[in-house]
Amino acid sequence: MPEQQTSCHKGLITLANGASGRGRSDLGDFYNQLLPAMWAGARLRCPVCGKGRMYASLTRLNEQCPACGIRFEPEQGTFSGALMLAMGITGLLVALGALSVELLFHPPAEVQLWLWILFACLFLPLTYPSFKGAWLGFMYTLKRMP
Ligand SMILES: [Zn+2]
Repeated sequence: MPEQQTSCHKGLITLANGASGRGRSDLGDFYNQLLPAMWAGARLRCPVCGKGRMYASLTRLNEQCPACGIRFEPEQGTFSGALMLAMGITGLLVALGALSVELLFHPPAEVQLWLWILFACLFLPLTYPSFKGAWLGFMYTLKRMP
């Protein structure tokens, strides 16, 4: 029974094999554009032009870039990936931090519990805007690829 491949898989395989004749340079272009776009977004700047501010205030996302006019939330649910990424990294930091503190200081379990609840309650909301910006940079870099 032959394996079924989605168009996404076929595209990735084509990119990886370079069968389109330009796959290798496309992948190089992707990586050359990805990090600057994600870094600009993480600094709460427009991931496309790097100039416009993403946020009008601490919590209010601008609809469009004031400099180049791209939409910061092109469709509903754009940032669900950013939320999953932020929660995953927060969980990873809590797990590694709790393990490190336990191995180094052996505090009572209640101290560990409240320490890492407090950490997660502060870290996630403070860094989520940067995760949203980095995620938007990732999404726009993907959209620019042929
Ligand atoms: Zn812009």
